[in-house]
Amino acid sequence: MLLAHRIRIDASAAQRDYFARAAGTARRVWNWALAEWQRQAALGHQPNALALKKQFNAIKYQDPAWLDADGNPWLRTIHRDAHAQPFANLARAWRRYFEQRRAGGKAHPPRFKKKGRCPDVFYVANDKFRLEGMSAVLPKVGRVALREALRWPGRILGASVSREAGNWFLSVQVEVPEQAAGRRRSGDGVTGVDLGVTSAATLASGEKIAAPRPLKGALRRLRIRSRRLSRKLERAKAAAGIKGRVPKGTRLPVSKNRTKGALALARLQARIARVRRDFTHKLTTRLCRENQAVAIEDLHVKGMLANARLSRAIADVGFYEIRRQLLYKAARYGTCIVLADRWYPSSRLCSACDTRNGTLALGERAWTCANCGAHHDRDVNAAINLQRLATGALAARTALPEASPAATPGTAAGIDPAAGGKVTPARHEHGQQDGSGQEEDAEHVCSPLR
Ligand SMILES: [Zn+2]
Repeated sequence: MLLAHRIRIDASAAQRDYFARAAGTARRVWNWALAEWQRQAALGHQPNALALKKQFNAIKYQDPAWLDADGNPWLRTIHRDAHAQPFANLARAWRRYFEQRRAGGKAHPPRFKKKGRCPDVFYVANDKFRLEGMSAVLPKVGRVALREALRWPGRILGASVSREAGNWFLSVQVEVPEQAAGRRRSGDGVTGVDLGVTSAATLASGEKIAAPRPLKGALRRLRIRSRRLSRKLERAKAAAGIKGRVPKGTRLPVSKNRTKGALALARLQARIARVRRDFTHKLTTRLCRENQAVAIEDLHVKGMLANARLSRAIADVGFYEIRRQLLYKAARYGTCIVLADRWYPSSRLCSACDTRNGTLALGERAWTCANCGAHHDRDVNAAINLQRLATGALAARTALPEASPAATPGTAAGIDPAAGGKVTPARHEHGQQDGSGQEEDAEHVCSPLR
Protein backbone atom coordinates (compact mmCIF):
# COMPACT_ATOMS: atom_id res chain seq x y z
CA MET A 1 0.00 0.00 0.00
CA LEU A 2 1.37 3.39 -0.99
CA LEU A 3 1.58 5.76 1.96
CA ALA A 4 3.30 9.10 2.34
CA HIS A 5 4.78 10.72 5.38
CA ARG A 6 5.29 14.47 5.41
CA ILE A 7 7.98 15.54 7.84
CA ARG A 8 8.99 19.06 8.73
CA ILE A 9 12.63 19.91 8.07
CA ASP A 10 14.67 22.07 10.42
CA ALA A 11 16.82 23.60 7.74
CA SER A 12 19.71 25.99 8.10
CA ALA A 13 19.71 29.27 6.20
CA ALA A 14 22.02 27.83 3.54
CA GLN A 15 19.81 24.76 3.14
CA ARG A 16 16.68 26.88 2.85
CA ASP A 17 18.41 28.93 0.21
CA TYR A 18 19.27 25.80 -1.78
CA PHE A 19 15.71 24.46 -1.44
CA ALA A 20 14.29 27.71 -2.80
CA ARG A 21 16.71 27.65 -5.74
CA ALA A 22 15.96 23.99 -6.50
CA ALA A 23 12.20 24.66 -6.41
CA GLY A 24 12.73 27.66 -8.67
CA THR A 25 14.72 25.50 -11.07
CA ALA A 26 11.97 22.89 -11.18
CA ARG A 27 9.46 25.60 -11.98
CA ARG A 28 11.63 27.15 -14.67
CA VAL A 29 12.33 23.81 -16.33
CA TRP A 30 8.61 23.03 -16.31
CA ASN A 31 7.89 26.32 -18.03
CA TRP A 32 10.61 25.70 -20.60
CA ALA A 33 9.29 22.20 -21.30
CA LEU A 34 5.69 23.36 -21.56
CA ALA A 35 6.59 26.19 -23.95
CA GLU A 36 8.61 23.78 -26.08
CA TRP A 37 5.78 21.23 -26.00
CA GLN A 38 3.29 23.83 -27.17
CA ARG A 39 5.63 25.06 -29.89
CA GLN A 40 6.16 21.56 -31.28
CA ALA A 41 2.47 20.69 -31.03
CA ALA A 42 1.61 23.86 -32.95
CA LEU A 43 3.95 22.71 -35.74
CA GLY A 44 2.02 19.46 -35.92
CA HIS A 45 4.62 17.30 -34.18
CA GLN A 46 3.85 14.89 -31.40
CA PRO A 47 6.05 16.00 -28.49
CA ASN A 48 7.10 13.55 -25.83
CA ALA A 49 8.77 13.99 -22.47
CA LEU A 50 11.82 11.87 -23.14
CA ALA A 51 12.73 13.69 -26.35
CA LEU A 52 12.18 17.02 -24.67
CA LYS A 53 14.46 16.04 -21.82
CA LYS A 54 17.17 15.04 -24.28
CA GLN A 55 16.74 18.33 -26.06
CA PHE A 56 17.05 20.17 -22.76
CA ASN A 57 20.10 18.21 -21.66
CA ALA A 58 21.81 19.24 -24.90
CA ILE A 59 21.43 22.94 -24.17
CA LYS A 60 21.26 23.25 -20.41
CA TYR A 61 24.96 23.95 -19.85
CA GLN A 62 25.42 26.03 -22.98
CA ASP A 63 22.34 28.10 -23.74
CA PRO A 64 22.82 31.73 -22.59
CA ALA A 65 19.40 31.63 -20.91
CA TRP A 66 20.74 28.97 -18.53
CA LEU A 67 24.05 30.66 -17.71
CA ASP A 68 24.68 33.08 -14.86
CA ALA A 69 26.21 36.56 -15.16
CA ASP A 70 29.73 35.14 -15.31
CA GLY A 71 28.78 32.72 -18.07
CA ASN A 72 28.81 29.66 -15.83
CA PRO A 73 26.04 27.08 -16.04
CA TRP A 74 24.19 27.57 -12.74
CA LEU A 75 22.21 24.36 -13.25
CA ARG A 76 25.33 22.47 -12.12
CA THR A 77 24.74 23.74 -8.59
CA ILE A 78 21.27 22.15 -8.47
CA HIS A 79 20.86 18.40 -8.22
CA ARG A 80 19.65 16.91 -11.49
CA ASP A 81 16.51 15.29 -10.03
CA ALA A 82 15.09 18.78 -9.53
CA HIS A 83 15.36 19.51 -13.27
CA ALA A 84 14.65 16.04 -14.65
CA GLN A 85 11.39 15.39 -12.84
CA PRO A 86 9.38 18.26 -14.38
CA PHE A 87 9.46 16.41 -17.74
CA ALA A 88 7.81 13.35 -16.26
CA ASN A 89 5.31 15.56 -14.43
CA LEU A 90 4.49 17.39 -17.64
CA ALA A 91 3.91 14.16 -19.53
CA ARG A 92 1.58 12.99 -16.77
CA ALA A 93 -0.29 16.29 -16.80
CA TRP A 94 -0.89 16.01 -20.55
CA ARG A 95 -1.95 12.39 -20.25
CA ARG A 96 -4.47 13.28 -17.55
CA TYR A 97 -5.73 16.16 -19.64
CA PHE A 98 -6.38 13.95 -22.68
CA GLU A 99 -7.95 11.23 -20.54
CA GLN A 100 -10.33 13.70 -18.94
CA ARG A 101 -11.19 15.19 -22.31
CA ARG A 102 -11.86 11.76 -23.77
CA ALA A 103 -14.09 10.96 -20.80
CA GLY A 104 -16.08 14.04 -21.66
CA GLY A 105 -15.21 15.85 -18.45
CA LYS A 106 -14.00 19.37 -17.95
CA ALA A 107 -10.26 19.45 -18.52
CA HIS A 108 -7.58 22.08 -18.22
CA PRO A 109 -4.35 21.70 -20.18
CA PRO A 110 -1.13 22.13 -18.14
CA ARG A 111 -0.36 25.73 -17.30
CA PHE A 112 2.75 27.78 -16.80
CA LYS A 113 3.89 28.11 -13.21
CA LYS A 114 4.31 31.51 -11.69
CA LYS A 115 6.55 32.30 -8.77
CA GLY A 116 4.51 32.83 -5.64
CA ARG A 117 1.36 31.42 -7.27
CA CYS A 118 2.33 27.78 -7.35
CA PRO A 119 3.69 25.47 -4.66
CA ASP A 120 7.46 25.49 -4.27
CA VAL A 121 8.44 21.86 -4.66
CA PHE A 122 11.16 19.68 -6.13
CA TYR A 123 11.74 15.96 -6.34
CA VAL A 124 14.50 13.67 -5.05
CA ALA A 125 14.72 10.10 -6.34
CA ASN A 126 14.98 7.26 -3.82
CA ASP A 127 18.59 6.38 -4.63
CA LYS A 128 19.75 9.96 -4.09
CA PHE A 129 18.86 10.40 -0.43
CA ARG A 130 18.77 8.36 2.73
CA LEU A 131 17.00 8.62 6.04
CA GLU A 132 18.83 8.10 9.30
CA GLY A 133 16.44 8.37 12.20
CA MET A 134 15.68 12.01 12.81
CA SER A 135 17.76 13.24 9.92
CA ALA A 136 17.98 12.87 6.18
CA VAL A 137 20.93 13.18 3.84
CA LEU A 138 19.89 15.04 0.70
CA PRO A 139 21.96 15.66 -2.41
CA LYS A 140 23.90 18.96 -2.50
CA VAL A 141 22.85 20.07 0.98
CA GLY A 142 23.95 17.09 3.07
CA ARG A 143 22.37 16.30 6.38
CA VAL A 144 19.14 18.03 7.36
CA ALA A 145 17.41 17.67 10.72
CA LEU A 146 13.88 16.26 10.68
CA ARG A 147 11.17 16.80 13.29
CA GLU A 148 10.29 13.09 13.39
CA ALA A 149 11.55 9.81 12.07
CA LEU A 150 9.87 8.06 9.15
CA ARG A 151 6.70 6.39 10.40
CA TRP A 152 6.32 3.55 7.88
CA PRO A 153 8.45 0.52 7.26
CA GLY A 154 8.84 -0.54 3.64
CA ARG A 155 10.44 0.40 0.36
CA ILE A 156 11.02 4.11 -0.17
CA LEU A 157 9.92 5.16 -3.65
CA GLY A 158 10.94 8.79 -3.64
CA ALA A 159 10.56 12.08 -1.88
CA SER A 160 9.71 15.66 -2.56
CA VAL A 161 10.77 18.77 -0.70
CA SER A 162 8.15 21.48 -0.51
CA ARG A 163 7.55 24.77 1.19
CA GLU A 164 4.56 25.81 3.22
CA ALA A 165 4.57 29.32 4.67
CA GLY A 166 8.34 29.58 5.05
CA ASN A 167 8.77 26.04 6.39
CA TRP A 168 10.19 23.20 4.36
CA PHE A 169 8.82 19.66 4.42
CA LEU A 170 10.08 16.33 3.20
CA SER A 171 7.33 14.06 1.83
CA VAL A 172 8.48 10.48 1.61
CA GLN A 173 6.47 7.98 -0.45
CA VAL A 174 6.73 4.48 0.95
CA GLU A 175 5.46 1.19 -0.43
CA VAL A 176 4.28 -0.31 2.85
CA PRO A 177 3.66 -4.07 2.93
CA GLU A 178 -0.03 -4.89 3.44
CA GLN A 179 0.62 -6.53 6.78
CA ALA A 180 2.39 -3.48 8.19
CA ALA A 181 -0.20 -1.12 6.73
CA GLY A 182 -3.14 -3.01 8.21
CA ARG A 183 -4.70 -1.79 11.41
CA ARG A 184 -6.91 -3.59 13.89
CA ARG A 185 -10.41 -2.25 14.33
CA SER A 186 -11.61 -1.57 17.83
CA GLY A 187 -15.29 -2.09 17.00
CA ASP A 188 -17.67 -3.65 14.49
CA GLY A 189 -20.23 -0.91 14.28
CA VAL A 190 -22.20 0.05 11.21
CA THR A 191 -22.89 3.70 10.88
CA GLY A 192 -23.98 6.44 8.55
CA VAL A 193 -22.34 9.83 8.57
CA ASP A 194 -24.09 12.97 7.50
CA LEU A 195 -21.51 15.62 6.68
CA GLY A 196 -22.90 19.04 7.24
CA VAL A 197 -22.28 22.65 7.87
CA THR A 198 -23.81 23.26 11.30
CA SER A 199 -22.05 20.23 12.73
CA ALA A 200 -19.26 18.75 10.65
CA ALA A 201 -20.40 15.16 11.07
CA THR A 202 -23.52 13.58 12.50
CA LEU A 203 -23.41 9.88 13.26
CA ALA A 204 -26.36 7.54 13.13
CA SER A 205 -26.09 7.13 16.91
CA GLY A 206 -27.17 10.75 17.18
CA GLU A 207 -23.73 11.99 18.09
CA LYS A 208 -22.81 15.33 16.57
CA ILE A 209 -19.18 16.17 16.00
CA ALA A 210 -18.39 19.83 15.65
CA ALA A 211 -15.56 20.93 13.42
CA PRO A 212 -13.01 23.23 14.99
CA ARG A 213 -14.02 25.72 12.32
CA PRO A 214 -10.55 27.17 12.23
CA LEU A 215 -11.41 29.47 9.41
CA LYS A 216 -14.24 31.11 11.30
CA GLY A 217 -12.06 31.74 14.31
CA ALA A 218 -9.18 33.01 12.27
CA LEU A 219 -11.28 34.93 9.78
CA ARG A 220 -10.97 38.25 11.59
CA ARG A 221 -7.20 37.89 11.77
CA LEU A 222 -7.13 36.77 8.15
CA ARG A 223 -9.00 39.88 7.12
CA ILE A 224 -6.62 42.12 9.04
CA ARG A 225 -3.53 40.52 7.57
CA SER A 226 -4.89 40.53 4.01
CA ARG A 227 -5.75 44.20 4.39
CA ARG A 228 -2.26 45.00 5.63
CA LEU A 229 -0.78 43.21 2.64
CA SER A 230 -3.06 44.86 0.11
CA ARG A 231 -2.16 48.30 1.53
CA LYS A 232 1.48 47.57 0.84
CA LEU A 233 0.58 46.46 -2.66
CA GLU A 234 -1.34 49.70 -3.23
CA ARG A 235 1.68 51.62 -2.01
CA ALA A 236 3.94 49.80 -4.45
CA LYS A 237 1.48 50.48 -7.25
CA ALA A 238 1.34 54.16 -6.42
CA ALA A 239 5.14 54.36 -6.35
CA ALA A 240 5.24 52.79 -9.81
CA GLY A 241 2.57 55.21 -11.02
CA ILE A 242 -0.02 52.52 -11.83
CA LYS A 243 -3.72 53.17 -11.31
CA GLY A 244 -6.31 50.39 -11.31
CA ARG A 245 -5.32 46.95 -12.53
CA VAL A 246 -1.67 46.04 -12.81
CA PRO A 247 -0.91 45.30 -16.49
CA LYS A 248 0.14 41.75 -17.19
CA GLY A 249 3.86 41.16 -17.02
CA THR A 250 4.62 44.15 -14.79
CA ARG A 251 6.87 43.52 -11.83
CA LEU A 252 6.20 45.76 -8.88
CA PRO A 253 9.12 46.49 -6.56
CA VAL A 254 8.86 44.25 -3.51
CA SER A 255 9.57 45.99 -0.22
CA LYS A 256 10.77 44.23 2.91
CA ASN A 257 7.51 45.04 4.68
CA ARG A 258 5.47 43.56 1.87
CA THR A 259 7.47 40.34 2.08
CA LYS A 260 6.91 40.25 5.83
CA GLY A 261 3.19 40.89 5.38
CA ALA A 262 2.88 38.13 2.83
CA LEU A 263 4.67 35.70 5.12
CA ALA A 264 2.42 36.60 8.08
CA LEU A 265 -0.63 35.93 5.94
CA ALA A 266 0.79 32.67 4.65
CA ARG A 267 1.60 31.52 8.18
CA LEU A 268 -1.98 32.10 9.29
CA GLN A 269 -3.33 30.23 6.28
CA ALA A 270 -0.94 27.38 6.99
CA ARG A 271 -2.13 27.22 10.58
CA ILE A 272 -5.75 27.06 9.44
CA ALA A 273 -4.83 24.21 7.12
CA ARG A 274 -3.06 22.34 9.94
CA VAL A 275 -6.00 22.59 12.34
CA ARG A 276 -8.32 21.37 9.61
CA ARG A 277 -6.02 18.49 8.72
CA ASP A 278 -5.77 17.41 12.34
CA PHE A 279 -9.54 17.35 12.69
CA THR A 280 -10.28 15.40 9.52
CA HIS A 281 -7.56 12.86 10.30
CA LYS A 282 -8.92 12.22 13.77
CA LEU A 283 -12.50 11.97 12.52
CA THR A 284 -11.79 9.62 9.63
CA THR A 285 -9.49 7.41 11.70
CA ARG A 286 -12.14 7.10 14.37
CA LEU A 287 -14.85 6.22 11.83
CA CYS A 288 -12.73 3.52 10.21
CA ARG A 289 -11.45 2.17 13.52
CA GLU A 290 -14.83 1.77 15.17
CA ASN A 291 -16.91 0.51 12.26
CA GLN A 292 -16.99 -2.35 9.81
CA ALA A 293 -19.12 -0.30 7.44
CA VAL A 294 -19.57 3.44 7.06
CA ALA A 295 -21.94 5.07 4.62
CA ILE A 296 -21.43 8.65 3.52
CA GLU A 297 -23.13 10.77 0.96
CA ASP A 298 -21.23 11.29 -2.23
CA LEU A 299 -21.81 15.00 -2.09
CA HIS A 300 -21.78 17.10 -5.18
CA VAL A 301 -19.19 19.36 -3.64
CA LYS A 302 -18.54 21.44 -6.73
CA GLY A 303 -22.20 22.33 -7.06
CA MET A 304 -22.40 23.18 -3.39
CA LEU A 305 -19.29 25.32 -3.52
CA ALA A 306 -20.97 27.35 -6.21
CA ASN A 307 -23.52 28.32 -3.58
CA ALA A 308 -21.71 31.40 -2.28
CA ARG A 309 -23.44 31.51 1.07
CA LEU A 310 -22.63 27.90 1.91
CA SER A 311 -19.29 27.67 0.18
CA ARG A 312 -17.05 29.06 2.89
CA ALA A 313 -18.55 26.79 5.55
CA ILE A 314 -18.28 23.75 3.27
CA ALA A 315 -14.72 24.43 2.23
CA ASP A 316 -13.89 24.97 5.88
CA VAL A 317 -15.04 21.51 6.86
CA GLY A 318 -13.14 20.00 3.95
CA PHE A 319 -15.59 17.45 2.53
CA TYR A 320 -13.32 16.27 -0.25
CA GLU A 321 -10.56 15.61 2.20
CA ILE A 322 -12.83 13.67 4.57
CA ARG A 323 -13.96 11.44 1.72
CA ARG A 324 -10.45 10.89 0.42
CA GLN A 325 -9.11 9.97 3.84
CA LEU A 326 -12.03 7.65 4.58
CA LEU A 327 -11.37 5.76 1.37
CA TYR A 328 -7.66 5.14 1.94
CA LYS A 329 -7.97 4.45 5.66
CA ALA A 330 -10.80 2.01 5.01
CA ALA A 331 -8.31 -0.14 3.14
CA ARG A 332 -6.05 -0.21 6.20
CA TYR A 333 -8.78 -1.01 8.70
CA GLY A 334 -10.76 -3.36 6.45
CA THR A 335 -13.78 -1.11 6.65
CA CYS A 336 -16.47 -0.97 3.97
CA ILE A 337 -17.15 2.53 2.74
CA VAL A 338 -20.52 2.89 1.05
CA LEU A 339 -20.97 5.96 -1.09
CA ALA A 340 -24.63 6.82 -1.40
CA ASP A 341 -25.13 8.38 -4.80
CA ARG A 342 -25.79 12.04 -4.73
CA TRP A 343 -29.47 11.67 -5.59
CA TYR A 344 -30.20 9.42 -2.63
CA PRO A 345 -32.64 11.53 -0.59
CA SER A 346 -31.02 10.80 2.77
CA SER A 347 -32.37 13.88 4.50
CA ARG A 348 -35.85 13.71 2.96
CA LEU A 349 -36.74 10.13 3.81
CA CYS A 350 -38.40 9.37 7.12
CA SER A 351 -36.10 6.82 8.73
CA ALA A 352 -39.06 5.26 10.56
CA CYS A 353 -41.56 4.66 7.74
CA ASP A 354 -39.75 5.50 4.47
CA THR A 355 -42.14 8.26 3.52
CA ARG A 356 -40.54 10.94 1.47
CA ASN A 357 -40.85 14.49 2.68
CA GLY A 358 -40.97 16.42 -0.55
CA THR A 359 -41.23 19.88 0.98
CA LEU A 360 -38.20 19.82 3.26
CA ALA A 361 -36.32 23.09 2.87
CA LEU A 362 -32.56 23.45 3.28
CA GLY A 363 -32.89 25.58 6.40
CA GLU A 364 -35.22 23.23 8.31
CA ARG A 365 -33.17 21.66 11.06
CA ALA A 366 -35.99 19.43 12.38
CA TRP A 367 -39.22 18.09 10.94
CA THR A 368 -42.17 15.82 11.74
CA CYS A 369 -43.19 13.00 9.41
CA ALA A 370 -46.68 13.56 8.00
CA ASN A 371 -47.28 9.82 7.71
CA CYS A 372 -46.15 8.32 11.02
CA GLY A 373 -45.69 11.41 13.16
CA ALA A 374 -42.05 10.70 14.00
CA HIS A 375 -40.06 13.79 14.91
CA HIS A 376 -36.67 13.97 13.26
CA ASP A 377 -33.52 15.95 13.70
CA ARG A 378 -32.57 16.61 10.10
CA ASP A 379 -28.95 15.46 10.33
CA VAL A 380 -29.53 12.45 12.60
CA ASN A 381 -32.33 11.25 10.32
CA ALA A 382 -30.03 11.51 7.30
CA ALA A 383 -27.30 9.63 9.14
CA ILE A 384 -29.71 6.82 10.04
CA ASN A 385 -30.82 6.53 6.41
CA LEU A 386 -27.20 6.27 5.37
CA GLN A 387 -26.58 3.69 8.07
CA ARG A 388 -29.34 1.56 6.54
CA LEU A 389 -27.53 1.68 3.20
CA ALA A 390 -24.36 0.52 4.94
CA THR A 391 -26.21 -2.33 6.61
CA GLY A 392 -27.69 -3.39 3.29
CA ALA A 393 -24.39 -3.20 1.47
CA LEU A 394 -22.66 -5.21 4.15
CA ALA A 395 -25.32 -7.91 4.08
CA ALA A 396 -25.08 -8.13 0.29
CA ARG A 397 -21.31 -8.43 0.44
CA THR A 398 -21.03 -11.02 3.14
CA ALA A 399 -23.99 -12.94 1.65
CA LEU A 400 -23.33 -15.98 3.77
CA PRO A 401 -26.07 -18.57 4.08
CA GLU A 402 -26.35 -17.81 7.80
CA ALA A 403 -26.95 -14.18 7.08
CA SER A 404 -30.10 -14.85 5.11
CA PRO A 405 -33.00 -12.46 5.71
CA ALA A 406 -34.85 -15.12 7.69
CA ALA A 407 -31.98 -15.63 10.11
CA THR A 408 -31.31 -11.98 10.75
CA PRO A 409 -34.58 -10.16 10.22
CA GLY A 410 -33.02 -6.88 11.27
CA THR A 411 -30.75 -6.55 8.27
CA ALA A 412 -31.74 -6.03 4.70
CA ALA A 413 -29.87 -8.78 2.95
CA GLY A 414 -29.77 -8.79 -0.80
CA ILE A 415 -29.88 -5.10 -1.48
CA ASP A 416 -27.61 -4.05 -4.24
CA PRO A 417 -25.24 -1.45 -2.90
CA ALA A 418 -24.87 -0.01 -6.36
CA ALA A 419 -28.53 0.93 -6.36
CA GLY A 420 -27.84 3.53 -3.73
CA GLY A 421 -30.97 5.42 -4.61
CA LYS A 422 -33.18 2.61 -3.33
CA VAL A 423 -34.26 2.32 0.24
CA THR A 424 -33.53 -0.71 2.32
CA PRO A 425 -36.86 -2.37 3.08
CA ALA A 426 -36.01 -3.26 6.67
CA ARG A 427 -36.40 -0.87 9.50
CA HIS A 428 -33.31 -0.30 11.48
CA GLU A 429 -33.54 1.39 14.85
CA HIS A 430 -30.42 3.33 15.53
CA GLY A 431 -28.18 2.23 18.36
CA GLN A 432 -29.05 -1.44 17.88
CA GLN A 433 -26.63 -2.30 15.19
CA ASP A 434 -23.69 -3.06 17.44
CA GLY A 435 -23.21 -6.78 17.73
CA SER A 436 -26.64 -7.41 16.23
CA GLY A 437 -25.66 -10.61 14.49
CA GLN A 438 -23.25 -9.12 12.01
CA GLU A 439 -20.75 -11.75 10.99
CA GLU A 440 -17.71 -11.60 13.21
CA ASP A 441 -15.29 -12.25 10.36
CA ALA A 442 -17.00 -9.89 7.96
CA GLU A 443 -13.80 -7.90 7.59
CA HIS A 444 -12.17 -10.78 5.72
CA VAL A 445 -14.97 -11.06 3.21
CA CYS A 446 -15.72 -7.42 2.81
CA SER A 447 -13.37 -5.71 0.42
CA PRO A 448 -13.38 -1.96 0.87
CA LEU A 449 -14.62 0.21 -1.94
CA ARG A 450 -11.91 1.87 -3.80
ZN1 LIG B 1 -42.56 8.52 8.95
